[in-house]
Amino acid sequence: MSRLQLRIMAALGVLVVAVVGVTGGLAERGLREREMTRLEGVLDERARMVREVLGGVSLRSTEIARLDALADRLGEVTGGRVTLIAPDGIVLGDSEVPVEGIGQLENHADRPEVVRALAGATGTVRRSSQTLKRSLIYFAVPAGEAGAPQGVIRVAIGTESAERAVNDLRRELILAAALGLLAAVVLSYLISWLMTRYVARLRDGVRDIADGQLERRLLWDPRDELGEIAESIDRMAEQLRRQLDEANAENERLEAVLGSMVEGVLVIDQEKVILLANPRFRELFSVWGEVEDRPLGEVVRNVDLDEALSLALDQHEPSIREIEVGSPEPRQILIHSVRFPSQNTQVGAVAVFHDMTDIRRLEEVRSDFIANASHELRTPITSIRGFAETLLNTPPGEDLNSYLKVIERNAERLSNLVDDLLELSRIEGQRTLLQLDEVELVELAKHLVDDLGPRLAGAELEAVIEGDEEVTVWADRHATERVLANLVNNAIQYSDPVGRIRISLHEEEHRAVVEIEDQGIGIPSDDLPRIFERFYRVDRARSRSLGGTGLGLSIVKHLVQGMSGDIQVKSQPGTGSCFRFTLPKAPVRND
Ligand code: ADP
Repeated sequence: MSRLQLRIMAALGVLVVAVVGVTGGLAERGLREREMTRLEGVLDERARMVREVLGGVSLRSTEIARLDALADRLGEVTGGRVTLIAPDGIVLGDSEVPVEGIGQLENHADRPEVVRALAGATGTVRRSSQTLKRSLIYFAVPAGEAGAPQGVIRVAIGTESAERAVNDLRRELILAAALGLLAAVVLSYLISWLMTRYVARLRDGVRDIADGQLERRLLWDPRDELGEIAESIDRMAEQLRRQLDEANAENERLEAVLGSMVEGVLVIDQEKVILLANPRFRELFSVWGEVEDRPLGEVVRNVDLDEALSLALDQHEPSIREIEVGSPEPRQILIHSVRFPSQNTQVGAVAVFHDMTDIRRLEEVRSDFIANASHELRTPITSIRGFAETLLNTPPGEDLNSYLKVIERNAERLSNLVDDLLELSRIEGQRTLLQLDEVELVELAKHLVDDLGPRLAGAELEAVIEGDEEVTVWADRHATERVLANLVNNAIQYSDPVGRIRISLHEEEHRAVVEIEDQGIGIPSDDLPRIFERFYRVDRARSRSLGGTGLGLSIVKHLVQGMSGDIQVKSQPGTGSCFRFTLPKAPVRND
């Protein structure tokens, strides 16, 4: 049984009891009044009858025996109590008191009904008799002639009959109340069940909606107020569902945008608790797991980041700052941060993080390149100038050949350098148009080895070509020649005078693989990652003495990559190096 049902039942029960109680009380009072009036009427009649019977009998104390006997007789006849009282209040006879007890009775002169009778009127009083210990109604009339009372005749009757009638009535009322209460309980149970059935349905539906089942509908025929409420709730649920869908879609869009951003995004509140952090932010600062609702300092321990965001929270202007993050590898990160609009109650800051590492590295490479290029150019120029001055100051007739040879060598170096630099800048600026076509690598390698024959023989080196008989790639002929020549030249230059150079060519699924392996001096592992950088040389003096510019491998790498291939190197100092590059295979012809 629901609480509402209990309340309705209790209210109806109380109503029934109250109505029966009040009407019962009123009825009981009325009945008692009526009974008393009736008894008074009876007593009035009896008193008058007794006075008639007594006639001229004088009420004197000397006649007590006779008067008491008379009172007993009258009492018997009238069926009530009859008391005869002398004018001075002394009781002379009483139908309920034996003659011996009369003398002991109190003087009745002060009894209110007696006082009134002695005054010539009639007196009615209801009270408990001290003598008989019962509730009685007394009625007293003056005895003898009117105007000169010779005593008082008092009649009395018990109120039991009236009390009985009242009690009967009360019993009936209690029964009626009990029956009414029972009827009220049953009736109220039915009424409340009918009412609460719909309310309970409404409650269950609303509870489901509140629990998030926004698809739930109450589906009510809106004929009454409950129906109207149900209809409103259905409308509200529909609206909520639509808003939630919109919010979800908005959220998904935002997540998609934030997730695909190259920049890290972080939103914090005034206390620097993270409200939002996109995947890129987590990647940049190597944080995993849930970060939302956690203090920033706990998630990322970086003093510079903390300072940058404190600054953003404190000032109105957007702030820009670059910080360094140490792990997992050093990175330069530029932070743009700005405070939330101040009219917003929830103040916080949004920060966007750009990874500047590559840009900074490029800047560094560029400035290194300029410094290196200037340095490389300056060396032969200084040399040429020096020897030219020497030539000018040399007296005629002296042998100038050695000076001129130095000048020629340096001029050649300068020219090589300028050529390489120009080529590199053309490739990098993609101004060299690569003309892709079918190129037969084995044939190319054979020509190269033939051309280098005298050099190889002079250095007591042997070059062997291994692998597939035919390897056709999709590449620029001139560029591929340049790549091969460069790598084989390096293998010759950095080999011990005696040794073997292996040129291996073979095809894989979609590409051709070329390996140029020597048994030369090798490259220390620390230098390996930088070997393809411009001007990078392991042994500067050796390279220079061999006429190297330090740009060869850089050009090779750019050319290979320009033809959609890639290049790698493996090397061990003292054992040799192996350069391995790939190029895409030529498409199969169907003719
Ligand atoms: P360079 O003009 O100095 O040869 P490269 O760019 O061709 O310039 O090569 C860069 C550096 O790489 C060389 O100075 C040399 O130290 C190293 N190197 C290149 N090829 C080899 C090799 N086959 N064996 C050992 N070291 C090599």
